[in-house]
Amino acid sequence: MRRKLAAGNWKMNGTKASLSEVAALIDAHPAPKSEVLLCPPATLVAAMAEAAGGKIAVGGQDCHMKASGAHTGDISAEMLVDCGATHVILGHSERRADHGETSALVCAKAEAALKAGLVAVVCVGETEGQRDAGETLDIVGTQLRVSLPEGATGANTVIAYEPVWAIGTGRTPTLEQIAEVHDFMRAELVARFGEEGAAMRLLYGGSVKPSNAAEIFATSNVDGALVGGASLKAADFGAILTAL
Ligand code: PEP
Repeated sequence: MRRKLAAGNWKMNGTKASLSEVAALIDAHPAPKSEVLLCPPATLVAAMAEAAGGKIAVGGQDCHMKASGAHTGDISAEMLVDCGATHVILGHSERRADHGETSALVCAKAEAALKAGLVAVVCVGETEGQRDAGETLDIVGTQLRVSLPEGATGANTVIAYEPVWAIGTGRTPTLEQIAEVHDFMRAELVARFGEEGAAMRLLYGGSVKPSNAAEIFATSNVDGALVGGASLKAADFGAILTAL
């Protein structure tokens, strides 16, 4: 049985004052039945982990493929662990677009994350042009194949399907379209990883909000959500948690 996961991606948002949202979330949901993860900017990982006190998991939004060295501005998986992180988002479409990250690089980062003991939340998803061209399953299948290292298991890897055109736009695929991609990903993962592929959580991400969360969570092979904008406020993220 896969435990549901509600993951929040704060992106480049938040200062120390924003940690009051974490306290409010924990106060309102002291014993959520699903797993809860928040991924703040790197500057807040340590402070959020301390504020969360183990009640919710805290993750990074990226890591370098190397453990240390001359890589100005980068942080390693080991450094995230040192700050109290247990997870790291990898291959988010904003990193693929803004920093030219390829699936091969995402795979190297995922290997580093798993070696350091982090759970890798690996993002895949098509652009609007790719969907319109009927390439969604090809794109998602290739990203999945290339981005995941051999050592991926149900315990150390989570997949987030995030159509690029649904991120931050208020637009979402139909439930049928979400089910089609999630069922396809499940079949691909089982074909490659067997039981471990069956155990991997598959999150949907892209304009999830309190009003659409319940129907998305009821969709085939959806084990939770990766939430951007609606994870910034405890009230919104809490309402999504309640829908899980
Ligand atoms: C995201 O960036 O991972 C995301 C899903 O954003 P939003 O929920 O704001 O669409």
